[in-house]
Amino acid sequence: MNNIYFDNASTTAVRKEVFDEIKPYLLDFYGNASNIYDLAKKSQEAIKKARKQIADAICAKSDEIYFTAGGSESDNWAIKGVADALADKGKHIITTKIEHHAVLNTCKFLEKHGYDVTYIDVDEYGIVSIEDLKKAIRQDTILISVMFANNEIGTIEPIEEIGKIAHEKGIYFHTDAVQAVGHLKIDVYKMNIDMLSISGHKLGAPKGVGALYIKNGINISNLIHGGGQEKGKRAGTENVASIVGLGKAVELANAEIEESTDYITKMRDKIIENIMSNIKYCRLNGHPTKRLPGNVNISFEFIEGEGMLLLLNSKGICATSGSACTSGSLDPSHVLLAIGLPHENAHGSLRITLSKYNTMEEVDYFIKEICGIVSRLRDMSPLYEQFLERQK
Ligand SMILES: *Cc1c(COP(=O)(O)O)cnc(C)c1O
Repeated sequence: MNNIYFDNASTTAVRKEVFDEIKPYLLDFYGNASNIYDLAKKSQEAIKKARKQIADAICAKSDEIYFTAGGSESDNWAIKGVADALADKGKHIITTKIEHHAVLNTCKFLEKHGYDVTYIDVDEYGIVSIEDLKKAIRQDTILISVMFANNEIGTIEPIEEIGKIAHEKGIYFHTDAVQAVGHLKIDVYKMNIDMLSISGHKLGAPKGVGALYIKNGINISNLIHGGGQEKGKRAGTENVASIVGLGKAVELANAEIEESTDYITKMRDKIIENIMSNIKYCRLNGHPTKRLPGNVNISFEFIEGEGMLLLLNSKGICATSGSACTSGSLDPSHVLLAIGLPHENAHGSLRITLSKYNTMEEVDYFIKEICGIVSRLRDMSPLYEQFLERQK
């Protein structure tokens, strides 16, 4: 049997339609966009088209889109770039406890360089507290960075409201929208967003390409010093083929949002309903409705996520866990801890992330396997044995 790929929040395959667009820019139209001959013009035009495709998808203007090498780079640029440009105005930044490490570790870095960062709490569903956000704002706050939707638990944040609060206080608002672009409708002006991070490989474009939307007029330092590419803000010969792929992938995903949301949500809800009604002692992490269409995150008491992943893998199913054990760290996920899960439960969690390329047959097969896997692991679990003893 082929792999059942349930890890679309980690990365995706390059879409066939995207690959077809990219290919000529690798083999035939390889001109450096900075030159004046026709071959270079081909590259210039391709970049221009991609910029417009991305701008259109988030209701921005073409000249507000800057290409980067991915989501992490966009997050780093937005935060360090504003921190540097506005250092004279203030050195306080507000973010949340559930951000991606590209945001959290950038903030940690700035803390070592004299900046002050407030990491605000979220509620049990992973939603940022607007009250806490308001309380955290100070005279010297220069930036608020809150993710659009969380990559682990799928919770969608009240972005428009946060942006409004930021703007009332004259504070810039950045959002890491890597999990949202192509999945949720976005209008950067209506939602009061000043900067927004995009990554290609989460939506069918190649790895190593992304974009940062920077609203015109925002004061931000240049990221890479060199040639005049990206208006001199992010130098380096453009990655034309990948940029073409990013534009195409964003355009396709955005045009398909309604159709794929319906289809993907049906698969998601079938998994959630089946697990919650057939397996005891488990909990759905994230918000029941304000959640990404393709995200399932469930904690199973008394078992280790790693055991689950290995058994799923032996059945050909690719999934991830909230436990970072596999990546060499014993710390449970900071996101699951932030929503109040005890350490044991944060370890026993499973994340499934679906795409339009998954099928109901795969979902049914998974549901059948996961029930067996959980009971097998519980049968071997000393914690479960103790629990049953206590129940007597
Ligand atoms: C994947 C991801 C990133 C990092 O993007 P890369 O392109 O892999 O650098 C940042 N933020 C979120 C929410 C992500 O899911």
